Amino acid sequence: MTKDARALVVEDELPVRDLLRLHLELAGFEVEESGDGREALRRLRESAYNLVILDVMLPGLDGVSLCRAIRTGGPNLSTPILMLTARDTESDKVLGLESGADDYLTKPFGIRELIARVNAITRRHARDDDPAPARKRTSAANVQLDPEPRGGLRSSAVARPRAAWPRVPGRRGWWERDRCGGPACRSR
Ligand code: CA
Repeated sequence: MTKDARALVVEDELPVRDLLRLHLELAGFEVEESGDGREALRRLRESAYNLVILDVMLPGLDGVSLCRAIRTGGPNLSTPILMLTARDTESDKVLGLESGADDYLTKPFGIRELIARVNAITRRHARDDDPAPARKRTSAANVQLDPEPRGGLRSSAVARPRAAWPRVPGRRGWWERDRCGGPACRSR
């Protein structure tokens, strides 16, 4: 985190706001606070931030509407937004994310999880801003390992017809290890 990274905390509960300020400052942010949705929107239209923490239930303007307003234009069009709310139903989470938030955390939250999520969304944002790594990622996207252990490789390199795979005589369904390698091949 660079020293001049600015965060805006939009939260109407003072104890939560104080807690957020303390830990975001420890994480290296210069923190500004707002307890009102409309006042926050005014600030967000005037200057750019590196991070916005956004409570959903706010006086003035609710967090979802505020998030949508941020994403329609202005200096914080692509600023990472972490949404906080007491609601935890799936539709609330989907609504938050669809309104343009980068991540979503349900109250009460652990401060370590919050900081981990802040770090993740700001890292992702920094990568997206850098065109060189983005190009590398695109070219590597064709050879990603599947996170599912038996899901196999997504690479086009292993997408050849099954008939073309060498077979060990006398062992049905068990393909030669040396030619394909790894559990993905053996499971076929
Ligand atoms: Ca609130």
